[in-house]
Amino acid sequence: MKEIALEFINIIESANHSAYIVGGFVRDFLMGKTSMDIDITTSATPKEMKKIFSSITLPKLMNAEDSYGSIRVNYKNVIFEVTTFREESEYLDNRHPSRVNYVSDLLTDLKRRDFTVNAICMDKNGVIIDPLNGQEDLAKKIIRTIGDSKKSFYDDALRILRAVRFSSVLNFELDNNILEAIKLHKDLLKKISYERKKIELDKIFASPKAKEGIELIKKLDLIQDLELDHIDRVKDYTDLVGIWAMLNSPSYHFNKHEREMIKKVNIVYNYDNTNPLILYKYGLYVNILAGINKGISKKSITIAYNNLSIKSKSEIAITATDICKYLNKEPASFLNEIFKCLEIEILTGNLQNTKKDILDYLDKNYKKINN
Ligand code: ATP
Ligand code: MG
Repeated sequence: MKEIALEFINIIESANHSAYIVGGFVRDFLMGKTSMDIDITTSATPKEMKKIFSSITLPKLMNAEDSYGSIRVNYKNVIFEVTTFREESEYLDNRHPSRVNYVSDLLTDLKRRDFTVNAICMDKNGVIIDPLNGQEDLAKKIIRTIGDSKKSFYDDALRILRAVRFSSVLNFELDNNILEAIKLHKDLLKKISYERKKIELDKIFASPKAKEGIELIKKLDLIQDLELDHIDRVKDYTDLVGIWAMLNSPSYHFNKHEREMIKKVNIVYNYDNTNPLILYKYGLYVNILAGINKGISKKSITIAYNNLSIKSKSEIAITATDICKYLNKEPASFLNEIFKCLEIEILTGNLQNTKKDILDYLDKNYKKINN
């Protein structure tokens, strides 16, 4: 990854621009971890970037999109988030700068960033450039804002949630100025879009430190500000969707898959998650997600699922054709009724799943047409 990243910035540098790796990749690299997303800061504007890369790489390898003066480039299957050196003038609505001014120097760009540990750079030779002493805080395991914390969080309240994320995920302390600034400005979180907040919350919930993140949200008294009212329902921290399902926060937006899962988990949460009919209808996964948050072990739910006499309709030991032939009827909607009854009888253990037993059952319960 590092080699491809250095190659990438060398391409920009050879077109007479400066470029550095910045942010999470450098931070994680110095902590001995690799991260998948690579942020680049450069003197090249998005327009210039497009020009550089369209002439050097195969068009197929490149996919660049403009958004707020930054572009994403897919180079050798690594995604680079490239932003032009900038300073951000006055902020509007506690989130967006009123305008973005491109600047020519790195230091100005680093000063507009959120935390010292996120402002460490790596140059084209792999040398660390760290004018704001981020490495010192990295060694002390402390999250500190660049400049005054109160101003920083007032300018962009999303930084409050980012501070929570970095503190919990990296296992770093929050510096005292940050703690005070959070108390003062935490209500501004309400003004931040749910989409942006969800990106940060997803990163907290999907990390192995989800429990610590949730505890920090509680400790900093952010539950109301983040509208995570049901946070105490979360008892298991191993699954992102499981956590969101317990939170059941209507304001956040979810994709179709997430919405369906959250709905199902909340339905089965009210039932016994080892009940064969519930396991059969909703499947193993959602029952585990609901069950583990109620203290039922994953193992007992899995055993109950594996013990189901059938896991789908297709496992019933008789076909629609067999039934029609036996009852001497034409196929029609009555078949659905019969299959529903068979499912229940077989799952609850009242009926053995053999063709003979099923035919006996049909004999007792359904009238044959005799002609
Ligand atoms: P991750 O490992 O999750 O990618 P990251 O630190 O790289 O963490 P990104 O969201 O990718 O975080 O942002 C890249 C960099 O951009 C940050 O390291 C930081 O320097 C800067 N940045 C991002 N969001 C903000 C913000 N809201 N305010 C100031 N600087 C920010
Ligand atoms: Mg990043």
